[in-house]
Amino acid sequence: MQKKIIVYTLCISIILIIPLVILLSHFGLSNKVTCNNSASAERVQEVKKEAVETTVEAAEETDQQTTQPVEASPSETQPYTAAAHNEQTRTVNDGQRENSTDSDTPKIIEVQSSTEYLPILYYHAINDNITTSFKELFVSPSEFEQQMEFLKNNEYTVITFDKLAEYKKYKKPIIITFDDGYEDNYTYAYPILKKFGFNATIFLCTDFIDKPLYLKKSQIEEMLDIINFQSHSISHPFFTQINNEQLELELSESKRLLEELTGSAVDVLAYPTGDYDSRVIKAAKKYYKYAVLNGGGLYRGTDNNYEINRVYIPRGISMTEFKRRINHK
Ligand SMILES: [Zn+2]
Repeated sequence: MQKKIIVYTLCISIILIIPLVILLSHFGLSNKVTCNNSASAERVQEVKKEAVETTVEAAEETDQQTTQPVEASPSETQPYTAAAHNEQTRTVNDGQRENSTDSDTPKIIEVQSSTEYLPILYYHAINDNITTSFKELFVSPSEFEQQMEFLKNNEYTVITFDKLAEYKKYKKPIIITFDDGYEDNYTYAYPILKKFGFNATIFLCTDFIDKPLYLKKSQIEEMLDIINFQSHSISHPFFTQINNEQLELELSESKRLLEELTGSAVDVLAYPTGDYDSRVIKAAKKYYKYAVLNGGGLYRGTDNNYEINRVYIPRGISMTEFKRRINHK
């Protein structure tokens, strides 16, 4: 009998204890799973946070890269021979990065006002008929028109060098320049500029005027309504390789002849081939208020007046690249 009681007690205890153990173990396990879930959730949050931070950093980096003009690299120079006057010109790439991600970067960073920088566009010929071995100097008229239309549609204010000192007063200011005085500036660029109501500056070499492929006096006179003509020397020499006397003559005579031809002040110089040094700057200061370079990127108000950057626009760049070069926001 006593044995039976013990067996029954054991059975009842087992029946009661087992569910209790199961219950306890279940709650314990659930709790553990919840913790794990919670830990996983936290990890997911961390991963998400890291991803957001990475995106922000990437955006900041991209923003800096797009807004920071890069200095021209003297090594990025390329010689070419122009058929008409057998000159050698070197064109400095503006040194800005080739690949742009500004169009697909989330705009979560407050952008800098584009008025901080002044793009001074730097063209040569506007022509599909390429007459020198240096093809990229010949921007297609259709590309040029598309670029001008973009400036118009995006409310850029085209100014000239007489407004340079006060460019920050203008909404999205920009300057348009052409070097060498190709005749196609009259044939193709001039009508497009007129269509959009824009001004521009053409840097002329006085020896090239009236030569084949270059602007004629009558064309220059006709263009005076919207074009400001400035100096690119007499004969397009390498300034650092000529003596003081020749240098003075190139600077002073080109200025005098152009002022006589246009009836307007000539006080801006574009160094032929972008070639200059401290001696050239010293001489240029006698005759000119400003001198521009063959690239370098965006102009900032703090730049030296005799080393003014320009934004090189070669043939064949995409509109995305054009926007990036002018720091369009
Ligand atoms: Zn030139």
